[in-house]
Amino acid sequence: MRDAVLLRNARIVLTESTTEPASLLIEDGRVARVFDSSETAPPSSPVIDLNGLTLFPGFIDIHIHGAAGVDTMQASTDDLLKLASFLSRNGVTAWLPTLVPDTTAGYQQAVHAIDGVRRRQSVDQEVGARALGVHYEGPFVNNEQCGALHREYFRTFKQISDVDSLPTLPHAEVIHLMTLAPEIDGGIALINELDKREWIVSIGHTRATVDILDQAFEAGARHMTHFMNAMTPLHHRAPGPVGWGLMNDQVTCDLIADGVHLDPSILKLILRNKTSKRVSLISDAIAATGLGDGEYQIWGETIVVENGRTRNSHGSIAGSVITMLDAARMMLSLGSSESEVAQMAALNPARLLKLDHECGSIEAGKRADLVALDDKRQVRLTIIGGQIAFQDLPS
Ligand SMILES: [Zn+2]
Repeated sequence: MRDAVLLRNARIVLTESTTEPASLLIEDGRVARVFDSSETAPPSSPVIDLNGLTLFPGFIDIHIHGAAGVDTMQASTDDLLKLASFLSRNGVTAWLPTLVPDTTAGYQQAVHAIDGVRRRQSVDQEVGARALGVHYEGPFVNNEQCGALHREYFRTFKQISDVDSLPTLPHAEVIHLMTLAPEIDGGIALINELDKREWIVSIGHTRATVDILDQAFEAGARHMTHFMNAMTPLHHRAPGPVGWGLMNDQVTCDLIADGVHLDPSILKLILRNKTSKRVSLISDAIAATGLGDGEYQIWGETIVVENGRTRNSHGSIAGSVITMLDAARMMLSLGSSESEVAQMAALNPARLLKLDHECGSIEAGKRADLVALDDKRQVRLTIIGGQIAFQDLPS
């Protein structure tokens, strides 16, 4: 058998439970099977003893602007590969580079660099977190809920060419996701158009009423971006996006679980309503992630990072400086089980992107995208498509 690797002695996080120490066989980049340690292992080499580490499905970050000094709006292909490698050291095996509103030329440069990464990764020369496509956060969003996005680049949807002007990635099996506000001029027609093109639509940076949100749902929107952040807060006489999202079981959402964007008690409240089946974790990380406190030039302005909190010149929070690993740790500390965290950090994002047939959980036949954590929830091993992307195993 080509490219077989046996992982022994790992607690394996499945979708509904975590196993006793067991074995996992990887063949041809995929999980061949999970089996009890008492069973005889098939002959394979090499064997990696995980010594009781906990093996999660690789995390999938669908909303990330940068890390390790790399910003998706400025990055070259080599920069993005550096970022992909940083992500793999932090347990991320797939990601969606996320763009903030910019000029068409700015978008073109960013998408060109992402295309370069996808080409390099498709020929397997680089083992880093896989860039799955592109996430446009805007430009069709609400002026009144800009957060840290720059209003001067916001657009409305008047005609098809407004979508055509956004650069896309050429390959098959590529993901295009857009966060938009359905209440902007032409918003519902825009969702219809994107749905026709098989883009994934997420509602965010919005002040939409329930009536408009219902129309957005009819048009194909099924997800909400950084739920509760950059949307009208809940009001008892105006449920808005928060009330609508909490009460609509057919809608999923994602959360920035850094304890700054959302108070831990609010994280619990959302989880109680949506359950771990309908929540994805995102980082919404910016280029300063992994670099510590300080002042950074990002998106044409100075962003200050202080005690893990970001702030732009207007005093707005400007993204996070966490990784998916931090978000996973946060949810574990709030009482989510390992399986629930695996759902939120891997399976649900994979489902949203319609990639759950190939990744998002540890199951026979799926890609071997795996991360092993120790008792302190530090990453000790990351495997992407059966290849070791990062290794720091205890001796
Ligand atoms: Zn963002």
